[in-house]
Amino acid sequence: ALMITDECINCDVCEPECPNGAISPGEEIYVIDSNLCTECVGHYDEPQCQQVCPVDCIPLDPGHCETHDELMEKYRIITAA
Ligand code: SF4
Ligand code: SF4
Repeated sequence: ALMITDECINCDVCEPECPNGAISPGEEIYVIDSNLCTECVGHYDEPQCQQVCPVDCIPLDPGHCETHDELMEKYRIITAA
């Protein structure tokens, strides 16, 4: 999964781009639900939020490192629900 750092300026351009609905406005900055973020695996070749973020504040979440296979499995579970 990816994460949003405190450099987020709350511009809201990433939220509508997420195919999994994983991004939402948090208490202070936007947040990514790691249970829903597939790093866009299953939908796109590149993480869509990273493509649009004007301040480049959406890195990989070191607390949620996943393989491509694990991300694909997450995608399957989300889309089957
Ligand atoms: Fe959503 Fe893709 Fe960004 Fe994850 S990488 S939060 S799935 S847009
Ligand atoms: Fe924050 Fe970047 Fe999303 Fe804008 S695009 S809300 S700066 S994470």
